[in-house]
Amino acid sequence: MAASLVFRLHDRGPELVREVLLERGWEEYDEGEREEEDWNLYWRGSAFRTSEYHNLLPWQRLNHHPKTIGITRKDCLARNLRRMKAALGSSLYDFSPTVFILPNDYTRFLAEYNKLRLVRGPYWICKPVDLSRGRGIFIFEDIRDLAYDCSVIVQRYISNPLLISGYKFDLRIYVCVKSFHPLTVYIHQEGLVRFSTEKYNLSSLHNLYAHLTNTSINKFGPFYRTDKGKVGQGCKWTMSKFRHFLHSLDINELLLWQRISNIVTLTLLTIAPSVPSCPNCVELFGFDILIDAKFKPWLLEVNYSPALTLDCQADITVKKGLIGDLIDLMNYTAIDGLRERAYQKHRYKQPCFNTNHASHISIPVISQLKEPKLQRKRRGSKAQQTQTLPLLKPLRQSEKTNKRQSRRHADYQRHLPPVELDNIYAVRGRVINTPKTHTDQTLNLILGPHSRTNVSAVNRQTRPALASNLTHNRSLHVSEVTNHDNTETEAEISGEADASSSIPDTQQRRLGLRRSAVAWKLPNIYSGSQRPVRIPVEENTALNGQHIPPLRVGDFIRTFPFNRATLKASQHKLDVTAIIQELHKLTGQLALGRLDKTKRRREEEVKKNTEGEDDFDSLLWGPKDPPLLIELIENRQKIKE
Ligand code: ADP
Repeated sequence: MAASLVFRLHDRGPELVREVLLERGWEEYDEGEREEEDWNLYWRGSAFRTSEYHNLLPWQRLNHHPKTIGITRKDCLARNLRRMKAALGSSLYDFSPTVFILPNDYTRFLAEYNKLRLVRGPYWICKPVDLSRGRGIFIFEDIRDLAYDCSVIVQRYISNPLLISGYKFDLRIYVCVKSFHPLTVYIHQEGLVRFSTEKYNLSSLHNLYAHLTNTSINKFGPFYRTDKGKVGQGCKWTMSKFRHFLHSLDINELLLWQRISNIVTLTLLTIAPSVPSCPNCVELFGFDILIDAKFKPWLLEVNYSPALTLDCQADITVKKGLIGDLIDLMNYTAIDGLRERAYQKHRYKQPCFNTNHASHISIPVISQLKEPKLQRKRRGSKAQQTQTLPLLKPLRQSEKTNKRQSRRHADYQRHLPPVELDNIYAVRGRVINTPKTHTDQTLNLILGPHSRTNVSAVNRQTRPALASNLTHNRSLHVSEVTNHDNTETEAEISGEADASSSIPDTQQRRLGLRRSAVAWKLPNIYSGSQRPVRIPVEENTALNGQHIPPLRVGDFIRTFPFNRATLKASQHKLDVTAIIQELHKLTGQLALGRLDKTKRRREEEVKKNTEGEDDFDSLLWGPKDPPLLIELIENRQKIKE
């Protein structure tokens, strides 16, 4: 009997994640029934403890990378962007409004305030650094109105936002960082557009329904249900609807998306080098972007735990697809079955392998890590000290099979977590009679020699990096201080009605609302089936020995790395300068529709010589049917010629 994959939700939420995973045949973790490590995915709205990163087992994944507070707390983001501006030039990092962290920067703010006041009276927005969902925010023009009793940021207020029917809006862009080492970023095409519910008016700065676009505020506004011109009822659009709107205006939409994509990359670059490597983590960020009347996108903030509550139809359409695609992007494969194997013996009381198997290596199973709960209950029967697990690949297989297997396992795109297995076993007080080399060998075989999951390599490199970075901050808890706009817990506690019950089934969504997505969408990996099935990631995943992450998974489009140079620059030590050069080049080419002729000839030659084995494609994030970046540049060039 095969067990399902198991998810664990902290504080009973978010409900949407539960619903999507149950639909896919996952089981929910139950503390009373299962061992502490008996899960595949642990999802929480707040931060994980350092020890939780250290103790990750190969089949376990977390929904947060460690140490991302550098962009998800308002003051940290301000500091990091300032640092990058100083190092790399303010023209590059000009996407964030001028900001001051008070009280520390008060004198500097005063100087700027006085300077700008002489030219024209700018507006400012004051936000507590550790609150979210619009709480504690106010806008002011006169410094005498600035009052604060906690740490705040004061930011230039973008007073000329692009309006639709007179209403202000911002974009919620969902960004998945699949990995920080190497940096691998996906942007989801179906984001949200969030409107204020009263007409924009600079003469009523106190009216939050006119100046803030937070749903948590506007859904309680008096005009929430009123028809508001093109905006309609409510306060949200899907990104697709917004694209229709953009088409009606004569603007360079593609350039807008590319600039937003650049903002995402440049923001992530501020922390990427300092985030410890934790390959079993994934993170979904919510980037809030405001577009001004000149179509310039501005970064307002980055949300650590973007809200997954379902308030309206746009939420249902966007967020359910988002979570489904995120699970697909996590690419659960056979290695995730390790959990099942490790527990099977105890849970089902039957051997999980054939003892006559030609070759197997002993590796410890969970029963040796900790006395299982089930076993504690039946303390009469003696626990075995070791178990043997079958290899995914027997040792005596032919060389050819080995290579095939290795290639396949390299597709897992996941490293072993930064754990030293021996240490864990020792800490958990059991004697393992398996030699270290065998354990490592087994896991390396499972993961494949080309896989970056190589145990010895992980133990050598990743673990120390993580350890040194994390031990500094053992008690770090960002749950109360980062930009969470996840309202699940609060909504549940306050008994607020949850719209999730009205979610249409997945098939309906896919056939109806997202019909165009069906053609390219990867299949649901668990629908109907209880067994992990390998997701068919793209075949061509190696470039000069480097792994190329899939171009798109569902509505997630890979935005980084976007060409060979950025792939190379992100492989080992992150080469920020090289990456920025490439971003510059790409944006310049898109803006001007120009690709240097010599370079193009050279690229065509390279392409011809390496056809079929060396391709590196990148899509332009943004349009519903995104073109390849290279084609886009070439087409624009042809039009110009
Ligand atoms: P919170 O974390 O509380 O949501 P945000 O920084 O996202 O804080 O600000 C809330 C809202 O205020 C935004 O969604 C946007 O509508 C508005 N806002 C924030 N900063 C600015 C700004 N600099 N210029 C114009 N509007 C802003």
